[in-house]
Parts: sequence; C-alpha cells; structure tokens
Amino acid sequence: MRPEILFISDLHLGTTRPDVTRRFLAFIRNRAQGIERLYILGDLFDAYIGDDDNSSPNREVKAALKQLSESGTAIFFQHGNRDFLVGELFCRETGASLLGDHALIDLYGEPALLTHGDLLCTDDVPYQVARVRVRSEAWKRNALSKPLFIRQLYARWYRLKSGLDKRKKSQEIMDANPEAVVEIMRRFGVRKLIHGHTHRPNIHDLEIDGIPARRFVLAEWDTCGAVLSRHRDLGWSVERTA
Ligand code: MN
Repeated sequence: MRPEILFISDLHLGTTRPDVTRRFLAFIRNRAQGIERLYILGDLFDAYIGDDDNSSPNREVKAALKQLSESGTAIFFQHGNRDFLVGELFCRETGASLLGDHALIDLYGEPALLTHGDLLCTDDVPYQVARVRVRSEAWKRNALSKPLFIRQLYARWYRLKSGLDKRKKSQEIMDANPEAVVEIMRRFGVRKLIHGHTHRPNIHDLEIDGIPARRFVLAEWDTCGAVLSRHRDLGWSVERTA
C-alpha cells in the first residue's frame, strides 16, 4: 500500500445530490486506490436512517467502500450529526471500523485527534442539549424500531427543520469555539486536530502552552470534492477533486 492517509467529511450524500455521489464513487475508485488508510469524519450521508436502508445512494456507497477495504485500504468512520445511526451492519458490509466521537490516531509517528466537529460548537447550546438526547442508546433504539417509511418521513421533516433553525442562528454560534478547541487538544495531549462539520475549510495555526499547534478544518463536498492528505514522505496537502 502507498504510505498515505486521506481524510474526508461532510459529503452529505443523498438522493438530491447525485453529482456528489458520482464524485465520491470516482474518488473511491481512483484517488483512494492503494492508500493505507481512509478516514471519513462524519456526515458522509445527509440523512442516515439506519443500516437497513439499502436505497440509492447507500447501496452504491457501501459497495464502493467494500471494494476499497477488500483491496487492502483500512477505512475508518466517525459519526456526524447527520449519520450517527451508522452502525455495526454498515461496518460489516463495508469493512469500515467505527471510531468514537474523539479518536486519537497515529500519523506516521505523530499523534492527531479526529472529531466530526459538532462537539466543538459549544456556543450552540440548544444543539448540544438536543445532541445528548438523540445520541442516547434509548433514543436510537426507539428510532430504529420504527418502520423504514416512518423514519424516511421523519428525516424529511428533520432536514426541513434543521434548515430553518440554521437560518435563525448567527454565524459565530455555529463555528468551533476557540476555547473548546484548545481544551480538547490539551485533554488528548495532541498538537494536531482534524475536523469537519462547520463547512469553513481552513488550516489554523495556534499556540497551546507555548507549543505550535495546528487545526485542519475539512471542506464540505459540493461542486467539487475536498480531500486532506497526509503522505508519509511528502507531508500534508489539500486537494480539490472535480
Ligand atoms: Mn455536521
């Protein structure tokens, strides 16, 4: 395998964005072939209602990931706020491993912390309160016990509601809180943090306790794809894929 690790997030795949699905499938079949590891940091799907939903594009996405993992690339998946119902069956079907909300990984000798990014948005208190509720095992069990068509209706309603809520919230509230960033990097003892969620791609250089640190914010996929690469010998690079 090529000594390279790729990071992606916030593709928001769904029936309404067939062009993004096409871009993702091309990325998996071409760019990602032969790499050592692929990390998907959440919101791969725009509204994921359970592993038993095999409608398009889920079916094609799972088949592509399975092919990649079978060819030797290790795939890791972290939940986003849109696809936190990705579960064991998805992992069995794709060969991906599920990561926790904070994942400490090794980048060729250097530790790095991965997180979707929503937990960093601590100023959005109503969101954080709702998050605790929907992430409980009881809530998830109850949601997944509903018939698929009920979950589909709920997802449609949720998308609408979330779009309206977002319009009302200020831009600052929906960004990562600088203190939360420093706190989490201190807690895990890292100087590299990689996350998505905010759709504000950037590389932020900061200093924590006198030591330089770096925060990589991944871009959402829209009219082009976005990939962060860490090659063992060539270092970091940010790519846009057509
Ligand atoms: Mn998100």
